[in-house]
Amino acid sequence: MRIVLLGAPGSGKGTQAQRLVQRFGLPQVSTGDLLRSAVARGTAYGLQAKAAMDAGQLVADDIVLGIIRERLAEPDAARGYVLDGFPRNQAQARALAAMLKAIDRPLDAVLLFNVPYGEIVKRIAGRRTCSKCGAVYNIHDVPPGAPLRCTQGADHPAPVQRPDDNEATVSRRLEVYEKQTRPLIDHYARQGLLRAIDANAPPDVVTSRLIGALLQPVKPKRATKKKAARKPVAKRKTPKRKPAAKRKVTAKRKTVAKRKVVKRVKRAKATPRRVTAKRRAAGKRRARR
Ligand SMILES: [Zn+2]
Repeated sequence: MRIVLLGAPGSGKGTQAQRLVQRFGLPQVSTGDLLRSAVARGTAYGLQAKAAMDAGQLVADDIVLGIIRERLAEPDAARGYVLDGFPRNQAQARALAAMLKAIDRPLDAVLLFNVPYGEIVKRIAGRRTCSKCGAVYNIHDVPPGAPLRCTQGADHPAPVQRPDDNEATVSRRLEVYEKQTRPLIDHYARQGLLRAIDANAPPDVVTSRLIGALLQPVKPKRATKKKAARKPVAKRKTPKRKPAAKRKVTAKRKTVAKRKVVKRVKRAKATPRRVTAKRRAAGKRRARR
């Protein structure tokens, strides 16, 4: 199962990526984490990435792709992966497709997280982070007026808002997403890979929707549909009779039906009717008229 998660910042991709990883036993390939790890380990790509970051530049796509390719070559990614944070634009999507084709590991599905922007702004503006352990909470998850505390330790300070998590910054990030990443929705829909999820729901609900979307069979392509139709059907021993309403009225059937009626009338005439009290009374009434 080779999956890409697509959605605006704050749409819950990170949380759900971790849940999919647990549910399906796949590694999460998060480009942010991979870059940090490559830099920390001082790999060839890591050194190039560090040079770019130190110069205040974005890390070039080919460096990110190189790091992803190295990660996918590790044994735990043989069964699949959950790719998170890449691609973010069409050029990256094309480069990723070419790289995955080269290593014969094409994508199986792209999961799109649909969340209204208003909800995203609210969510991110409500984020609070523990400065001691990095755990992330949301003021909208606790009852109004209740204090927000870090659950990782009694001595942890009250979680605070990170400078990035304010409405102005979020709006800017959403603008970038709208302009660069949103076109990928059409890009992957055309390839038949896109599966859209209503992600404006509690995390457990979103998880079950994601799993449902992943387990549903992919739309069959026309070629396979035709093939299936041509499959020989096992012959029945006795031909199934069509339901009466659907039988065609043929000339032969008409004459058969007529003959049956004639026979019934003849038989009725041949056997004299018994004279009952009721019939006698009816006969008398007719005679009187
Ligand atoms: Zn903490």
